[in-house]
Amino acid sequence: MYEDYKNEVVFWAQKAEKLGLVVPTTGNFSLRDKETGYIFVTPHGVFREFLNPDDIVVLDINGNKVEGKNKPSYETPIHLKIYKNRRDIFGIAHTHSPYAACFAVLKKGIPLIHIETFFSVGGDIPVVDFALPGSEELAKKSLKKLSNRSAVLLESHGVLTIGSSLPNAVLIAILVEESAKIYHKALQVGEPKNLSEEQVRALEKILKESSPE
Ligand SMILES: [Zn+2]
Repeated sequence: MYEDYKNEVVFWAQKAEKLGLVVPTTGNFSLRDKETGYIFVTPHGVFREFLNPDDIVVLDINGNKVEGKNKPSYETPIHLKIYKNRRDIFGIAHTHSPYAACFAVLKKGIPLIHIETFFSVGGDIPVVDFALPGSEELAKKSLKKLSNRSAVLLESHGVLTIGSSLPNAVLIAILVEESAKIYHKALQVGEPKNLSEEQVRALEKILKESSPE
């Protein structure tokens, strides 16, 4: 059952790997079905290249398995915590994309120096303090920092993005990596300048005025 959702998760997980956001054994992806509330998550320990729709694990909001032969991703607790507390979120991506992970291991957030970071993430990209992968502590800390952002860096680890759909969460992960790359390159040649409060207010105005496409 639920072939469409399973196919969607496989497609976007493989797409993220093709785009260089993850390597075969890292990262995880999920979506939530608006109707049933079920969560469709990538499995633990399956090479993404060989991922089949049947490999996707279907869970209820409490993490009980509805369908699937595999173990769900090790980071499933973080996905469940976010879906439980954020009724507006329907897709989550977790990557170790190299430029963003570079700042995660430095425990250095990505400042708001580029307009696209504002439009995609809602501001600078903060770092969530270290907690063990798969832990309730990491889930709690991430949820808190995501209250007004759609992406965070996880200290010594990687990137977590949330969206209105799985494609949206993957797109944000792509844009986070782009922001990290720009910041990294800018640091090589000078001192990147933060957007001013006035500039941020003007961008907020554009965002409010632009109708959803
Ligand atoms: Zn990870």
